[in-house]
Amino acid sequence: MNSKYEAVIGLEVHAQLLTDTKIFCGCSTKFGNPPNTNVCPVCLGHPGVLPVMNKKVVEFTVLMGLAVKCKIKELSIFARKNYFYPDLPKGYQISQYEEPICEHGKVVIEFKDGSKKEIGITRIHMEEDAGKSIHDQSDATLIDLNRCGTPLIEIVSEPDLRTPEEAYLYLSKLKQMLTYLGICDGNMEQGSLRCDANVSVRLNGETKFGTKTEVKNMNSFRNVERAIAFEIERQIGLMEDGKEVVQQTLLWDADSNKAYPMRSKEEAQDYRYFPDPDLLTIVIDENWKCRIKKQLPELPDARQVRFINDHKLPAYDAEILTSWRQLADYYEQVITVTNNYKAASNWVMTEVLRIVNDEKITIEQFPVKPISLGKLIKMIEDKTISGKIAKEIFPEMLATGQAPEEIVKDKNLLQISDTSEIEKAVDKIIESNPKDVQDYLGGKEKVIGFLVGQVMKETKGKANPQIVNEILLSKLKR
Ligand code: ADP
Ligand code: MG
Ligand code: ZN
Repeated sequence: MNSKYEAVIGLEVHAQLLTDTKIFCGCSTKFGNPPNTNVCPVCLGHPGVLPVMNKKVVEFTVLMGLAVKCKIKELSIFARKNYFYPDLPKGYQISQYEEPICEHGKVVIEFKDGSKKEIGITRIHMEEDAGKSIHDQSDATLIDLNRCGTPLIEIVSEPDLRTPEEAYLYLSKLKQMLTYLGICDGNMEQGSLRCDANVSVRLNGETKFGTKTEVKNMNSFRNVERAIAFEIERQIGLMEDGKEVVQQTLLWDADSNKAYPMRSKEEAQDYRYFPDPDLLTIVIDENWKCRIKKQLPELPDARQVRFINDHKLPAYDAEILTSWRQLADYYEQVITVTNNYKAASNWVMTEVLRIVNDEKITIEQFPVKPISLGKLIKMIEDKTISGKIAKEIFPEMLATGQAPEEIVKDKNLLQISDTSEIEKAVDKIIESNPKDVQDYLGGKEKVIGFLVGQVMKETKGKANPQIVNEILLSKLKR
């Protein structure tokens, strides 16, 4: 990026809430049902019907508001946002406009080098989703109204972000919070988390904001980063050419890696917002707010600090382990069996995460249950098996789901700590490697490693390496 300029970015993030039923009716929110089966007269917008507020939606929204330190408004109201589109049968979307439920929050993002930055949250409000238009399955456009009335929250940031990386980190942080709270699955590819980016550019040192554009239609975290980078460069190009940035909405096209303006007709909007006369004012008194607050789980930052302080884990481990709630939960299950926190962390961060990432499975689908992994680590700790054997058993546990102690028993892999048996193996290796023994006695201390290795091989990895080492040293001294 041209260093004469600075970018200013604000994000509008929509998150689909994980309630069982829709925001204003009792229809299911289940994803993937046959088209137009999760519908009723209310979400289809038939005349004469009345919406009824889903209390859970309010509670989920307040949870998020509390998590990002928003002020929770005692009184808030719904508004109608009027526009015509085939997937919006009522002709208006019920949203919040004036008097949103949460305002003035903040989240802290952390850069790779450990430095931090605070990003302001302007507001969080509740709204209903529209249906889906499907353009690619026949000559006509098909409409599926199952999604109509699915609850969303919209999280609007202050224009505090300055780079595509900051936007990426901010979005990741929101996803982490939403999934920790268990109120959204955070899946951008499936549309349960969506992001519109507002972007402007100004000369360094300038205090006024430039004209912004809005980029929509990014369906992955990487695309958000790329789309913003593209738009910053485009605006800088215009300014360098002495041209003006036009305020408009652009659609990101991931195939060409470019953003194209929406047709201006689609864009011209006058929503004629007005308070929805069918819904009551939402009142959140101190009492209700306190009850919701009690449902707040331990948030990622606090959990990270606890892992560092109480488990003495390096900051790096703590950050990775808390990056999603299920992973942290898995690790915490492992350490109910063993107190070896660092070993548990190593196994989870390497073996578990590698397979989860490679196979693109969730941690719940991971075949080795945390208690089993804990037992495996405990067996190394107790010197029942060696670390080397443990690495061999693990794939077996993965493939069969068998408990580690069963595999050890079946395959006779118990670690040998019986000195007489180890002594026999040591004698054999000393006898069959006279030259190495000579080298060692002549002062080449490193050779001991080789000899230990040979004894381990002789015992098929089952000997306790520490005892092997001790016996070898004592025998070679004589
Ligand atoms: P609009 O009325 O066009 O939707 P808002 O004031 O609601 O604009 O802001 C929408 C988003 O755009 C917010 O996230 C805000 O932080 C961001 N934003 C506002 N002004 C700018 C600007 N000049 N450059 C970049 N982002 C901006
Ligand atoms: Mg807006
Ligand atoms: Zn319905």
